[in-house]
Amino acid sequence: MPAIENVLKSGRVLQGVQTKQVEEKIAKVFDLKHCVALNSGTDALSFSIAALGLKPKSRIAVPSMTFIASASAIVQNNCIPVFVDVNPTTMLMDQSKLINLINSNKVDAVIAVHLYGQMQPLRQIVNITKKKKIPVIEDAAQALGSKRNGNPPGQLSDITCLSFDPTKVIGAYGSGGAVMTNSLKFAEKVKLLRYHGNKGAESILTGYNSQIAELQAAIINIKLKFLKSWQERRNRIAEIYLNELNSQNNLSFFKILEGNIHNNHKFVILCDERNKLLSFLDKQGIGTKIHYAIPLHNHKQFRNYSQKNDFEKVEHLSKHIISLPIYPELKEIEIKKVINSIKIFYK
Ligand SMILES: *Cc1c(COP(=O)(O)O)cnc(C)c1O
Repeated sequence: MPAIENVLKSGRVLQGVQTKQVEEKIAKVFDLKHCVALNSGTDALSFSIAALGLKPKSRIAVPSMTFIASASAIVQNNCIPVFVDVNPTTMLMDQSKLINLINSNKVDAVIAVHLYGQMQPLRQIVNITKKKKIPVIEDAAQALGSKRNGNPPGQLSDITCLSFDPTKVIGAYGSGGAVMTNSLKFAEKVKLLRYHGNKGAESILTGYNSQIAELQAAIINIKLKFLKSWQERRNRIAEIYLNELNSQNNLSFFKILEGNIHNNHKFVILCDERNKLLSFLDKQGIGTKIHYAIPLHNHKQFRNYSQKNDFEKVEHLSKHIISLPIYPELKEIEIKKVINSIKIFYK
């Protein structure tokens, strides 16, 4: 509350010290030189595509299992999403299918999504995209705090995107997002897009208005102090779920890849009789969700894009996923209730 009051008293509600501080802190978390705070993760993705200079009709690979924004940003830039099936053990984009698309010159760029907070392995992919000069964007909207081989997202790609949506690991009380990169050129371009292409008094390109509110930035700055402890708590809750539910025949779990540190932004499991389990838990007062019920290539918005890839895995898995409650404030007794309710359902 004092932080909010300070912003109100200062009268500086956009592009002030709080925004600057968020940018400095986030750049540090990702170990990248530049961070540009924006009004949403969606804008972060959209501006990243523009900053990379991807021309209209560029074909951009994106996993079919992710939030809509990962692909909307492609269409917003008049580019073409090329949806890719998932690896059934992780629900992350199928690496070999992606590499086939790259090797057969079917994509001009890649958006890798660190789904549920688990990092998509990128080393092998980047070895190929570098040679072919294909840019890679990381959608790290769900992966704040996550690591792979000791590194946060953003170390292998050209540009990385983050969201401060209220549902995310560090959420604003409203909307927010950011772009992180080591490239000064890309960062400058995103800054221009953020506010009407203004350079001094002159507008040099058609931009947008995508500033983060100082009030939101002030809240994010406070919440960032808890990044580590909240992540530990999420990981502990995930561990309890796994230990207690591992032996259930009707459930299975996604694998955490060797070298990955998860943030458990979401705790998604595979289950039999998914819709029945969902309504059973709902009746017990346990909120669950499905991330995501419809693979992207099946949304009306995206159906125009020719779909010749095979989506066998994601089509099957999307019917069995359920996201269990996970957030740092979840109490032991509540975790037990979730576990017991699931056990009762299958008994
Ligand atoms: C939340 C999310 C976004 C979009 O971020 P907003 O801040 O909601 O616009 C993009 N990609 C993924 C994977 C997300 O989870």
